[in-house]
Amino acid sequence: DKGLAVFTSGGDSQGMNAAVRACVRMAIYVGCKAYFIREGYQGMVDGGDCIQEATWASVSSIIHRGGTIIGSARCQDFRERAGRLKAANNLVQRGITNLVVIGGDGSLTGANLFRQEWSSLLDELEKNNTITSEQKNKYNVLHIVGLVGSIDNDFCGTDMTIGTDTALHRIIEAIDAIASTAYSHQRTFIMEVMGRHCGYLALVGGLACEADFIFIPEMPPKVDWPDRLCDLLAQERSAGQRLNIVIVAEGACDREGNPISAEDVRKVIDARLKHDARITVLGHVQRGGNPSAFDRVLACRMGAEATLALMEATPDSVPVVISLDGNQTVRVPLMECVERTQAVAKAMKEHRWADAVKLRGRS
Ligand code: ATP
Repeated sequence: DKGLAVFTSGGDSQGMNAAVRACVRMAIYVGCKAYFIREGYQGMVDGGDCIQEATWASVSSIIHRGGTIIGSARCQDFRERAGRLKAANNLVQRGITNLVVIGGDGSLTGANLFRQEWSSLLDELEKNNTITSEQKNKYNVLHIVGLVGSIDNDFCGTDMTIGTDTALHRIIEAIDAIASTAYSHQRTFIMEVMGRHCGYLALVGGLACEADFIFIPEMPPKVDWPDRLCDLLAQERSAGQRLNIVIVAEGACDREGNPISAEDVRKVIDARLKHDARITVLGHVQRGGNPSAFDRVLACRMGAEATLALMEATPDSVPVVISLDGNQTVRVPLMECVERTQAVAKAMKEHRWADAVKLRGRS
């Protein structure tokens, strides 16, 4: 008779639907009542039709779909206690005390805060006669589990986040397509890829496509990067190469912290080498399309594990995030990972790149 709800929050990523499906089906399999919460925390605060019971059939034929069929949002109301009080009431009225949050570090932080506040929220709801004392006693513990959906692969504590592999597929498809036309006209293409302060997509995409030069935030080049870049590209052209591919991660900068944009790189190549240099900004294409086999299976494994972790949780257990470690799905303390992820973001902002790389580590 346990109630379990799943929702997606923050930016979307491919594979979130597969995770929703796995959470719901495992919940039904173990005898829970499963719910969707639509539009992330906003749906939890608003209640009504935003919280709907999920069935085995309602998650059929979604494993291959990109984005999230239950919607995602950023929600100001949930940042305030008044919003979380409404959300708590909406959950108690449906008997939901287990949550799977699929999002980034912000969404996971919000869930942890909600869990910590839960009993005081229920006290307040009982005091103002919104819930009964029976309801308060029956639903007095909230369990949460996190899954990380992000194309950036910027979350500490997991080898891969849900969506990263698919985004890489989008990137290499685009670079391969560009490379064939660049070859014909002996052009240089500068590709800007996403990742915020994380260079994973740029680095791995570049390795997979034989990029000639890659700018990533974690390893900023010296301010004389135009010399190094142009020497290298000129050398390759004189050795007979007919095209060049340069990848710029969106958060790239030089060692003094000056941002390096695709346009900065194009101008340098145009002025010094007189190449026909063009820019392609991949943008949201990277977040779209059908999830790869890897992301579908990763999300299925993580979703099923999330439900099992909730079923085994005790009032004293530490909330966990489901991670990939090597080829195993494992449970790791949620707030440790969130705090490390936020420390990495801070170090990157303060240009302490070596600290950021060390903090990110592997586990
Ligand atoms: P992405 O990586 O795509 O940005 P995210 O989960 O980090 O995903 P945020 O915008 O930081 O995205 O958070 C999503 C939502 O989570 C917020 O709109 C808010 O509703 C909730 N949230 C985030 N941080 C907190 C917090 N400290 N307290 C309460 N709620 C929060």
